[in-house]
Amino acid sequence: MPSSHSAGQEFPVEVVSDEEMALIEAALALATARPFLSSARCAAPLSRAACSAAGPAAGDIEDSPPPHTPQRRSLLARFRERRALAVTDITATEWCDKQMEFVLEQGRPERTEAMKAGSDRHAQLEKEVIERVDVAIRSAEELWAVKFMNFIVGTNQLLFDGITRELPVIGVIEGSWMVGVIDEIRMPMDGVSSHPILVDTKTRSKPTVPSEAQKRNGRLQLMCYKYLWDNLITEIFPAEYFFSYFDLNPNYLLSDDVKCYISSLGFHAKTFEDVLKYFKVTCHTLPQSRKHLLLRYELQADHSLLEEYQFPYDAMWLKNQIQETLGFWMGAREAKFVIEEERWKCHFCKFASNCPKMASTTRC
Ligand code: SF4
Repeated sequence: MPSSHSAGQEFPVEVVSDEEMALIEAALALATARPFLSSARCAAPLSRAACSAAGPAAGDIEDSPPPHTPQRRSLLARFRERRALAVTDITATEWCDKQMEFVLEQGRPERTEAMKAGSDRHAQLEKEVIERVDVAIRSAEELWAVKFMNFIVGTNQLLFDGITRELPVIGVIEGSWMVGVIDEIRMPMDGVSSHPILVDTKTRSKPTVPSEAQKRNGRLQLMCYKYLWDNLITEIFPAEYFFSYFDLNPNYLLSDDVKCYISSLGFHAKTFEDVLKYFKVTCHTLPQSRKHLLLRYELQADHSLLEEYQFPYDAMWLKNQIQETLGFWMGAREAKFVIEEERWKCHFCKFASNCPKMASTTRC
């Protein structure tokens, strides 16, 4: 994780939660001829499934527009067509639109040692409560089926053990499909509240407190998770829209491997739709999450706690943030650069040498 000095303070920077980006990239590597979701690691207390691809070779997701297309297509159409936006797409855009645009068009820069350390810590935390098993996946339907089963098993773990980690969620925000992986969910042990609290842990390479921009980005991430979690519980899952948007066959017959995994969890399913029914029933038995969300910052070296703070969910702020972000993704507006007060972000940006913002500064 790079660091810089600005206004007398040191800012170790974590632009995007890297473990989620790894999930997205893994999903792309599994992509078959039909484009599908943007998160692939499929995680059960003592056995959540990790998917291994047994299908055809990966397709090219950066579909080029047809030569006769008169207008440049939106980033959503070009890079997320028939796939969901990830919560990390939202947070990365909030960090800097222009940087997100560079990532989409030029590819993600190499991961730093600090980013790898952050991912390793998340894997370690996950291992404390989850044992992964491999399940061979042959289609998008099977990938989603395992993901839904992992949600069911994870939420059972939450209700019986009081904690779960790396829980996949999906929903529609402001008309767009979105996926995410909730870092940690805890049931309160006070015997009073029955509403779980959503938690996200960030790791830092140096013992410094996070900047306000980093905290704001973390708040946005957790608020997206709360929206998705609560929405799954309070709303009817739009199954028909889900099947059509992702081009999925509800009558798809699951392979023996996937059926075997599902029956090992105590469920019996033949088709993809059978799994979705279990998922929908589970959602409606869960409690909404607490209004307050918890962000934690740990030191990478010894996992000591640097800072932990709770903040309230703000539905209007989230809605505005999502609309602003979608404006960029849908081509309603050009990419913006960082604001002047957050120019320090450019010192960590791998695309700074190509960025018009830096060129204009140099000329000045
Ligand atoms: S140099 Fe600054 S403004 Fe340009 S893409 Fe990077 S972070 Fe954004």
